[in-house]
Amino acid sequence: MGFTVRFRMMKSEEVPIDVPREQFLAFDAQDPLAEVRERFVLADELIYLDGNSLGALPKAVAGRLAHTVEQEWGVRLVRSWNDPWIDLWRSAGGKIARLIGARGEDVAVADSVSVNLFKLLASGLDLRPNRRVVLIDDSDFPTDRYVADGLCNLLGDRVTLRRAKGDLRRALDDDVAIVLSSHASYLTGALADMRAVTHAVHEAGALMLWDLSHTAGVVDIDLSGCDVDFAVGCGYKYLSGGPGAPSFLYVAPRLQDEARTPLQGWLGHEDIFAFADHYRPAPGVERFQCGTWPVLSLSALDEALDVFEALDMAAIRAKSQALSARFLELIEPLIDRHGITVTTPIEPQDRGSQISLSHPDGYAVIRALIERGVIGDFRMPDIMRFGFAPLYVRFVDVWDAAAALTDVLDSGSYRAERFRARTKVT
Ligand SMILES: *Cc1c(COP(=O)(O)O)cnc(C)c1O
Repeated sequence: MGFTVRFRMMKSEEVPIDVPREQFLAFDAQDPLAEVRERFVLADELIYLDGNSLGALPKAVAGRLAHTVEQEWGVRLVRSWNDPWIDLWRSAGGKIARLIGARGEDVAVADSVSVNLFKLLASGLDLRPNRRVVLIDDSDFPTDRYVADGLCNLLGDRVTLRRAKGDLRRALDDDVAIVLSSHASYLTGALADMRAVTHAVHEAGALMLWDLSHTAGVVDIDLSGCDVDFAVGCGYKYLSGGPGAPSFLYVAPRLQDEARTPLQGWLGHEDIFAFADHYRPAPGVERFQCGTWPVLSLSALDEALDVFEALDMAAIRAKSQALSARFLELIEPLIDRHGITVTTPIEPQDRGSQISLSHPDGYAVIRALIERGVIGDFRMPDIMRFGFAPLYVRFVDVWDAAAALTDVLDSGSYRAERFRARTKVT
């Protein structure tokens, strides 16, 4: 609270950056998405640059959850399974589909990203029985690497894990069954060329699984246009589904009849209430359901996704690129002055919606910023991440964040002892 107000009242010669704040207020005045922020619970003075870790809360979610708890659960009890709970995943999946270039019926909301990675990697291996390699990006998000490793261990001699450093395409050969990569890196924000990589993977006879955790809701994705085989993505980051929200998965229509899941749960059965002796997969992506979904979390996600209704992904992407580009411009003088490295690609088309800066004291700098109401986060070994969720981050937030960062670094205030101790969650 203190700090924005302080900048507002500062005389221009005291402000740590020389671009006027008014210019950024003017950008907000012209922003076609400016009003979307009103649909989120966000204190006016809070500068929230961590929507890439936990998306802000849409205002409508509290009422929806109250209704789900009090009426659907409290009053209608088990009758709510027929309406609306049994089809809730389809509803949420349909809303996500529009954001990622898929048909509604090709997306299932289910489980966590980790669990869906397991299901789809196994499915890809099953579709390529004569190939024995799972190829991953060695710098990918830990869970993606761990799950692929665990699956390969489980399958023993049948499969080996290959970890590519640098361009995945150079590690392709005709042993590779399936390739897993994040669309945008959680660490650097670098955006992969979905079309070109998918094409190269297909040329090599393999299947492609994209992790959209850092792009769903901020990058205009075209899964069907890029002929992607499989995808997963996170519900609690830019989609604002809430802490621990279920994730989503996509299977190309041309694979849906053959693709099998190793987690053959009853809710993926063709006839759930037949209680049949044997498992028969449901048609389409429904077979990738496993057990009972968390109705409360799924209701929150389903409601949150309505914020995207009527918004154009191209406009969202354009604002995201503009926000991160302005931030880079404002912090540019800090690069030499404080030995910062920009680890995100400089060209807007080559990045997702975050800027990552590395600095030896990155952890302490982030703690100092958080104390001033500027919320970013820190990732090992020395990366400060600033995520720009275009639905609720204002241009003036970019200015305020850059000014705070400049002040924290120039004054050395981050060196205070209280910013050193590691918290459990960074
Ligand atoms: C956030 C994220 C996940 C999250 O996985 P969960 O199992 O849903 O917690 C997975 N992969 C990537 C790349 C992520 O960014």
